[in-house]
Amino acid sequence: MAEPTQPGTAAGHARPAAPCPICGRPAEAKHRPFCSVRCADADLGRWLTGQYRVPGPPVDPEDEGGRLDPEEGMG
Ligand SMILES: [Zn+2]
Repeated sequence: MAEPTQPGTAAGHARPAAPCPICGRPAEAKHRPFCSVRCADADLGRWLTGQYRVPGPPVDPEDEGGRLDPEEGMG
C-alpha cells in the first residue's frame, strides 16, 4: 500500500483567500479581488457588454412586435 502524500502542508499561515469571482481561482493580492488582470478586465467587460443588467421593469414580449417598422402605415 502506498500512503497518499499531501504536498505543501508546511506553508505557514494558510488563510482562505477569496476566490476569483470570474474563474474561481485563488485571488492574487496584486489583482484583488481577481486572480489576474485578465479576470479583472473580464469583469469590466461584463459591465460594458451589458451582462450585468440593472433590475428594471419586465418587458412584455408582445411589445417587441411591430417596433421595427415605424413607417409602416404612415403613407
Ligand atoms: Zn480569475
